[in-house]
Amino acid sequence: MTGTSRRTTTPKIDGQSLWNRLDALSKIGETSDGGVTRLALTEEDAQGRRLVEAWLAETGCEISHDAIGNTIAVLPGTEPDLPPVLLGSHVDSVANAGRFDGCLGVLGAVEVLRSVAAGTRPRRSLAAAVFTDEEGTRFGRDLLGSSVTCGLLEPAKALATADADGRTVEQELRRHDLLGTAPLLVGRPPHAYLETHVEQGPVLLRGKLPVAAVTGVIGTSWTRITLTGAAAHAGATPMDMRRDAGLAMATLRLRLHALTEDHPGLTVAVGAMDTHPGQVNVVPATATLTVDLRAPEETVLVKAESAIRPLAEKVARTHGCELTTCDQISRTAPAAFDPAMVDRVAERISAHGLPVRRLWSGAGHDAQQLTTICPTAMVFVRSQHDGISHSREEWSLPEDCALGVQLMAEVAVDLANE
Ligand SMILES: [Zn+2]
Repeated sequence: MTGTSRRTTTPKIDGQSLWNRLDALSKIGETSDGGVTRLALTEEDAQGRRLVEAWLAETGCEISHDAIGNTIAVLPGTEPDLPPVLLGSHVDSVANAGRFDGCLGVLGAVEVLRSVAAGTRPRRSLAAAVFTDEEGTRFGRDLLGSSVTCGLLEPAKALATADADGRTVEQELRRHDLLGTAPLLVGRPPHAYLETHVEQGPVLLRGKLPVAAVTGVIGTSWTRITLTGAAAHAGATPMDMRRDAGLAMATLRLRLHALTEDHPGLTVAVGAMDTHPGQVNVVPATATLTVDLRAPEETVLVKAESAIRPLAEKVARTHGCELTTCDQISRTAPAAFDPAMVDRVAERISAHGLPVRRLWSGAGHDAQQLTTICPTAMVFVRSQHDGISHSREEWSLPEDCALGVQLMAEVAVDLANE
């Protein structure tokens, strides 16, 4: 090693400290049955944020807020003018949530910064982000903070968004002193972004693997369909003279599920079905159903979407009904992560002597917005209890959490020395 070379020791994550912080944060907004409710920009969310910021401050970070209230904490490297390596996630939750969703990524970032601060500084700064309102439960728009900072949503539009009581994001940010002047990331993109998150699904548990390299976030398409037939007496109307919208709906549901046979990677869920007038002795006159399509490949998603209307028209016709509405109500494209970044995560998993599993995320994450401004990857940590999430049943093992964050630390320090 020459005098100009730099040696940065591989950071060692303190799993117990990570676990203790997860426990302490879960006490803020704790529900009587052991769940957590920290809806975005409520008192509980702000209190959680202040606790995390206090921990970040202990590492020697400079902490600031941007125009949507995202927390940005920077631990300067030896060349602080270089774009930093950013780690992050969120601490807001849905109602009656668990303690890991989002918090693992944020508290993992705290641990990485803490371990790096205690050793030799890398070239690049390491930064941690706590993104405002990832869940979207309260203000109706998910990934709010990450969308704004990545230039995907106008700050003014986000700030004007109101909750059910008419309180705006801006009012709530001001109330909690979270509105700041730090520049948005879109104007100064990080060198790379990493996020550790619980899987929120059963794949790793079933595969007996503690961690995975996430390939990207799958795309989602929601459609609402209304079928119209005719109400009729359930006894007096012969079967062949009915225009049963409920039967058409049930048939359509089966045909929609069959789309998965022709479209690899596609998932289909019909989550809401309703018939009118909804009486035991009346043939349904109208039926509504929602369709949730997801796929990692945009081409697959587009093909499946384009199949919905012709299928619904055909099924409606067969049952003497009409397709009245077929409206797309939400759409996000798949977000593939940077292949070289995913490989880095996979290599670290291998280096720990574990088989590498690559996995698409079925849930949305702040990381999908970051893909638009910098190379991005995620580490998934095994969920317990059949992968249940957004519930107090959400659980992960301490050793799995520590391993996921350790992998993130190793990749982050490698990147920070580039
Ligand atoms: Zn999350």
